[in-house]
Amino acid sequence: MTRHLPGVDALLRAPEGEALVARFGRNATLAALRAELARLRAAGLGGPAAVVLDAAADGLARRFAASQRPVFNLTGTVLHTNLGRAPLPPEAAEAAAAALVGATTLEFDLQTGGRGERDDHVRQLLCDITGAESATVVNNNAAAVLLCLNTLANGREVPVSRGELIEIGGAFRLPDIIGRAGALLVEVGTTNRTHLRDFRDAIGPATAVLLRVHQANYAITGFTSAVPAAELAGMAHAAGLALVEDLGSGSLVDLRRWGLPHEPTPQESLAAGADLVTFSGDKLLGGPQAGLIVGRAELVRRVNANPLKRALRLDKARLAALEAVLRLYLDPDRLAERLPALRLLIRGEGDIAATAARISPALATFAGRAAEVAACRSQIGSGALPVDLLPSAAVSFAGDGLDPLAARLRLRPRPVIGRIVQGRLWLDCRCLEATEEAAFAANLE
Ligand SMILES: *Cc1c(COP(=O)(O)O)cnc(C)c1O
Repeated sequence: MTRHLPGVDALLRAPEGEALVARFGRNATLAALRAELARLRAAGLGGPAAVVLDAAADGLARRFAASQRPVFNLTGTVLHTNLGRAPLPPEAAEAAAAALVGATTLEFDLQTGGRGERDDHVRQLLCDITGAESATVVNNNAAAVLLCLNTLANGREVPVSRGELIEIGGAFRLPDIIGRAGALLVEVGTTNRTHLRDFRDAIGPATAVLLRVHQANYAITGFTSAVPAAELAGMAHAAGLALVEDLGSGSLVDLRRWGLPHEPTPQESLAAGADLVTFSGDKLLGGPQAGLIVGRAELVRRVNANPLKRALRLDKARLAALEAVLRLYLDPDRLAERLPALRLLIRGEGDIAATAARISPALATFAGRAAEVAACRSQIGSGALPVDLLPSAAVSFAGDGLDPLAARLRLRPRPVIGRIVQGRLWLDCRCLEATEEAAFAANLE
């Protein structure tokens, strides 16, 4: 027996129906009302207008909710690839937003009124900071490696140490990238030991460049030997070849200044004789997703002349953000205050524990169980400095039902992301700065 259902026209004319049209538009509202009516009809159910309108409103709200949303990153991994890596400083976010909403000087020369170069917005900054002759930027570091190898080694051989044939995660495996660049990988040495003579033996008439890759997310320890960049550069140059170095994260400053472990810098690579150096924009550099290429002007010119450059280039928003972030590096003394990625990485354990203590009551109330403030260790993330962990503090929960608790936290308006390890849910407070604590508590209510 079919129960009575209101008609679509009556629903649209109801005040609640008009409100839905005003908010979501006529098409979507009509579709949602029809879908709800069809569902009820199929189930043989009736219902008053208010019930149908309510259900349609829920469906519309879900459909129009943003899929990519800001979250609270309490995973303990600062540069979390799945959560968007480096948080940007406000001046970079503002520059990107300003570029997005209108016309810009992206490829326009204000002096001549003619065409400009999009990379010009960051080239000089990159040269000033790294000491390179020239620089260019692309979509990410994977693209930078692909583009450099395709430009310099298409159809020719690229010797690489077996200790450096890295997989980053996702689909970045160095042998695959070399293959897709059109080059032929020549494996050199062994997993734990590679010597200069191994490279000497591998160099032949078909060799295009030598490639060195930073062991970004792993460490080879024990009976090991790797060829220092300066020796490899010397051998490459003696053979009339270029040395390309993929630094992975790379850092534009010496992180030891702030008590962090040393991460190789492009400055060091260039000083050692590397001809092209590639690194990421959104790892330790603390900027937007980008692939940076610095090095010899003639090689950068060839890279830019490769038609693939067009396919891999950076858009105006990320260029604007990158420019703003690079400018912060001109004042290293204030970098740690102004660059969020660095500020979070060097944040002291005591400061983090204080945040954990302040937010733990709200979390305990939300969870309906006792919360403990406990010491833990954060990771830098993005493969950077993988063997070094940073002392931190977390709000931690034990007991049964941790998965449902973690799921409830993920369902908050701004999802809260923690991690479950060793039978406890850990909410590492390193990335929750004091300025966000009030919003964090309100988000749990
Ligand atoms: C992260 C990384 C890459 C890839 O960089 P993306 O910016 O993520 O594309 C390449 N090589 C190394 C050594 C890395 O660490």
